[in-house]
Amino acid sequence: MALIRGALLLFFLHFLVSALAGIIPNFNQITPEDTILDINEAILPGILGDAQYDAIIVGGGPAGLSALSGLARVERTALLFDSGDYRNGPTRNLHDVIGNDGSVPGSSASPIAFSNSVPGTVPSVFRATARKQILEYYSKTAEIRYSTVVSIMKADNGAYFSVSDNLGKTFTAKKIILGTGMRDILPTTPGIEDAWGQGMFWCTWCDGFEHRDQPMGVLGPLRDVLDGVNVLRTLNQDVIAFTNGTWTPDEEAAALKENPKFFQHLEAYNVVIDNRSIVAIERLADGSMLYSPKEHKQFDRFRVHFAEGPIIERNAFITNFPVEQRSSLPAQMGLKMKGNKIETDINDMRTSLKGVWAAGDANSDGSTNVPHAMFSGKRAAVSLHMELAREESQASILKRGLQHSKRESKRQTMKRIGNELEELWDRTQVR
Ligand SMILES: Cc1cc2nc3c(=O)[nH]c(=O)nc-3n(C[C@H](O)[C@H](O)[C@H](O)COP(=O)(O)OP(=O)(O)OC[C@H]3O[C@@H](n4cnc5c(N)ncnc54)[C@H](O)[C@@H]3O)c2cc1C
Repeated sequence: MALIRGALLLFFLHFLVSALAGIIPNFNQITPEDTILDINEAILPGILGDAQYDAIIVGGGPAGLSALSGLARVERTALLFDSGDYRNGPTRNLHDVIGNDGSVPGSSASPIAFSNSVPGTVPSVFRATARKQILEYYSKTAEIRYSTVVSIMKADNGAYFSVSDNLGKTFTAKKIILGTGMRDILPTTPGIEDAWGQGMFWCTWCDGFEHRDQPMGVLGPLRDVLDGVNVLRTLNQDVIAFTNGTWTPDEEAAALKENPKFFQHLEAYNVVIDNRSIVAIERLADGSMLYSPKEHKQFDRFRVHFAEGPIIERNAFITNFPVEQRSSLPAQMGLKMKGNKIETDINDMRTSLKGVWAAGDANSDGSTNVPHAMFSGKRAAVSLHMELAREESQASILKRGLQHSKRESKRQTMKRIGNELEELWDRTQVR
């Protein structure tokens, strides 16, 4: 009987406290002390659990994969999206990525034409190896989906991000890393697309060494010729600049304004300028078939056709075509841009939007190559992990503070009620 009486009393007490809780001020509110923390109750669900992943990474190139590895190693859950559009997709081999030059598995060079000594890792093999290792080694935390992200929005009052793909699926994450890369805008001149990345390149470090000491073309507007020539200075001595009709009085004046000794520099290097309009570039030989394993040289050969006059032959070209963001996500998310790059803090790869980092070619830190993409992906992962760790720590203090506030309010309620409750209970029993 005493037991039942006690249980009923407890039930009644609980009912009364709950009812009073609604009318006692600050019971369910954050106290001023709690708000000293720089996060608030609104984002607690995002930080402490409601989002599916700690991070979503958009981009499966070296930037995104490096970020995935960096997050997985500290047991952050991360989902990476890869739409399969890689900047170095057209090229045969990776170069100047240590451990990947020379005799490595997966080369596209023909073992029939020469020997089985090969000129560098094929980019798709590089990515596939990275994916396999990451997914096997960090199987609990790293995931990859092969689809295109079409929107990234803040959800739940900004507590986390909601990410939708072109397959109609939606996922949530506390933070975002964009490694979405850049796209090269190639001229429509016949033959350029075929040559791109296979004898025609924009980055000397990528393919210059395999074409050293060969007849070289610099392809682009007059103003860019000197930079192209300077970057080749140690590799090629026989250089023709194909300016494709851009040598106009205005362009010449602009070039001289930038460098009054523009033409003297070119003369000193014996550079010939050919300003005829190019109508086509024809491939005569394919360097993936003609490769010297002894010298590490590839022997591409091209014929340049003009609107008029004789053709010219070259083994390779360096160019400076324009580039644009591969993805519309940075614009859609309203990220601040620097030129056509996502404005990014070089120290931690943060963008203008809190909770969003940018790595690789797409960001504004001024480098575009595989080692840079890996470096910036890693740096973004470290920064993201640390920010989340700080937020989690603050959130648990805030949560404990809230629980403490609730306990304290209940205690005070009980104190106010005091013995009157016992008496109230006894009176109900008498009736
Ligand atoms: C022809 C050529 C040859 C090169 N050779 C070399 C070389 O030898 N050595 C070197 O160091 N560098 C080389 N580079 C440069 C190198 O390719 C880039 O610097 C590097 O790929 C940048 O990596 P990234 O991860 O930023 O972008 P990318 O490798 O371009 O990857 C971008 C990723 O984002 C994905 N993506 C974009 N938007 C979305 C979306 N909405 N949803 C899902 N996924 C999305 C793409 O599918 C892709 O997975 C070369 C470049 C070119 C053009």
